[in-house]
Amino acid sequence: MLEQPITFKPQISGPVIHPIRVLLVYPNTTEVALANLGYQRVYTLLNDMDGVVCDRYSLPNDWKPEWQSLKSSALRSHELNLPAHEFDMIAFSISFEPDYLHAVTLLKYFNIPLESNDRGREHPLILAGGSAVFINPEPLAECVDAFFIGEGENLADQFFNLFTHSDWQDPRELLKASTDIPGIYVPQFYPTICDEDTIVGYTPEPEVPERVIRYWTGKTEDLCTHTEIPSETTTFKDMALMEVTRGCIWACRFCTAGFIYRPPRLPDLQLTYDSLQNVLSKQDKPSDTIGLVGPSVTDHPDLLGLAHRIVAEGKKLSFSSLRMETLTDELVDLILISGQKTLTVAVDGPSERMRNVINKAATDDFIVEKCRFLTQKGILHLKIYSIIGLPGETDEDIDQFITLVERVHKVYVEACSERGNIGNLTIGLSPLIPKPGTPFQWHPMESVASLKKKFLRLRKTFGRLSYLKLSFGSPNEAFLQTYLSRGDRSLIKFFRNYLDQDHDAKAALKQNQKEVESFVYRQYEKDDFLPWDIIDHGYRNNFLWDDYQRGLKERHTPVCDTAVCKICGIC
Ligand code: SF4
Repeated sequence: MLEQPITFKPQISGPVIHPIRVLLVYPNTTEVALANLGYQRVYTLLNDMDGVVCDRYSLPNDWKPEWQSLKSSALRSHELNLPAHEFDMIAFSISFEPDYLHAVTLLKYFNIPLESNDRGREHPLILAGGSAVFINPEPLAECVDAFFIGEGENLADQFFNLFTHSDWQDPRELLKASTDIPGIYVPQFYPTICDEDTIVGYTPEPEVPERVIRYWTGKTEDLCTHTEIPSETTTFKDMALMEVTRGCIWACRFCTAGFIYRPPRLPDLQLTYDSLQNVLSKQDKPSDTIGLVGPSVTDHPDLLGLAHRIVAEGKKLSFSSLRMETLTDELVDLILISGQKTLTVAVDGPSERMRNVINKAATDDFIVEKCRFLTQKGILHLKIYSIIGLPGETDEDIDQFITLVERVHKVYVEACSERGNIGNLTIGLSPLIPKPGTPFQWHPMESVASLKKKFLRLRKTFGRLSYLKLSFGSPNEAFLQTYLSRGDRSLIKFFRNYLDQDHDAKAALKQNQKEVESFVYRQYEKDDFLPWDIIDHGYRNNFLWDDYQRGLKERHTPVCDTAVCKICGIC
């Protein structure tokens, strides 16, 4: 069981001895960076710290991954206009594994050696945090000096305080001391054990913890996350965002949000919105839409109260994800009043059987009736989203999905005809990426060839339905993402190849196809070494494995009820 809240003892206090400059880098375009609340949160946290000056950097909006270099003017920090080498530390914020490729590209652009071993005191310390790296930091372990494993609130303070309150010539001198902070992972102190070319374990140095505890914040008042850097250029344009839920109670077995942010927590919504309004009041043209974000925002008991307040102020609402079970009359009315015309019904599994495998109890009849209800209420466009390539999925599950879509299509067209206008019914499908930190972490990804065959069949079948659009997540991209998610330190070879092959990921994957497939298509067994087991998420023994087995038997696990539940060991 994780003891929380964790604090670094002794607390470091007293005057600042060594002020530091940190460049916070989001390895994607500025538009994408500013849509990420975690990145904005850390930027504010660091600038609130004594002795820390934090500037930010993200790539130009027209940047393409294949570009070999950038003009030096496009590589300077956004506010102080400084080049990267003038910072003591460069901290990457990485929420999505494909951004690993952009991170290594940026090190090249910044003229910083890719591997920690090749860097010295003339180079900044390279740090990384964000949900992708706290699921599995190992793919970047040869490139990053220290990782933040867990949530940024308090963890970042403890780490940077150590550096501002110590005397040093090279920040690397303090890396060993930083491993006393729960949530800090310094891979150089965890040499690997190899069996021929395969990594099969670690031998942590004597002074460092055997495993690194994933840090999470236990204080509700620290959960106050919203847009901090308003900009016309974000993906969400003139929408301001606020976090409504941290973690998720539903425990869908494919989903990292339901596992790595345990226990689920509820921010104080009025407090967060007041704080967001304070930011908006400083804008020339305040955003007129408030985006409510979180894995399942309707789980917050105060959501409706907040939504009424926002609508009463004349603003529009947007919801990042809504569980279909929670779409009540009142909520749909609010959504319609605020101008939202599209709703996504995430069925997540193609058949009732597959929904049991992922721990989601929703029958086809329930889904069809929910779609009828939403269309009759006035929702113009409906999206049905499902994952494909789930454990044990067969052609029969795909047959059942086809029947389900045909039934939804029928009720959608009928309800639209009754009210006299029609939009689109979109069917979105994406391949399962078996993510570390979830019960499916042992499961292989379905082969690219088999996924393409399924997509072709569905395209042919659904092509004859009017008002229906299809969107398929690319199996090749899922293959790359699975490799980046499940990999270990040997991925350094892939990153080198990627940079040498003019940033062509496909060519770099081909150079080592067999090894890559051994990560992507591997069925892990219960006692197999998992590279990401270096992270301790706090589960009691075997909880995730047992949950995986329950899934394969199509059995359910109860949703989180933090007041009484003890099953996974985290509460
Ligand atoms: S102990 Fe229960 S409520 Fe707490 S995180 Fe685990 S499953 Fe959820």
